[in-house]
Amino acid sequence: MSDLKALYQEVILDHNKNPRNFKKLEDADYSVEGYNPLCGDHYTVYLKMKGDVISEITFIGSGCAISKASASVMSTVLKGKTLTEVESLFNEFHHLVRGEIKDDVSIEKLGKLAAFGGISEFPVRVKCAILPWHTMKNAIDKKNETVSTE
Ligand code: ZN
Repeated sequence: MSDLKALYQEVILDHNKNPRNFKKLEDADYSVEGYNPLCGDHYTVYLKMKGDVISEITFIGSGCAISKASASVMSTVLKGKTLTEVESLFNEFHHLVRGEIKDDVSIEKLGKLAAFGGISEFPVRVKCAILPWHTMKNAIDKKNETVSTE
């Protein structure tokens, strides 16, 4: 295993074990549930906005290591971002986990999100990784229905 792969695995293990922003947000502007029936991942994402900036983002729920780490890393990355930045990160993350970003420079630019690049080799796991993102996106788009990856 390369050093970079080991580092990426470390990020996922760490965020699974000690998920960041793992709490209910009582005064959230939006909260949306997401469910991945294939794996049993089930999360609620909470968002608090200040204008078009995400001022707080938290989540609760349970699921596999990939989904929990993805939700945790997402929460650390998106806090303080504008909706335009969030949209672009959402798209980049999708390209990444589908294996559509090939060059190392572009991957490294994604910072901690790059840890999920290896997921593209495991199609079933892609749904686990993108579930928190779809849930967050639905909240931002003000669709308050539960998200399912099916
Ligand atoms: Zn899962």
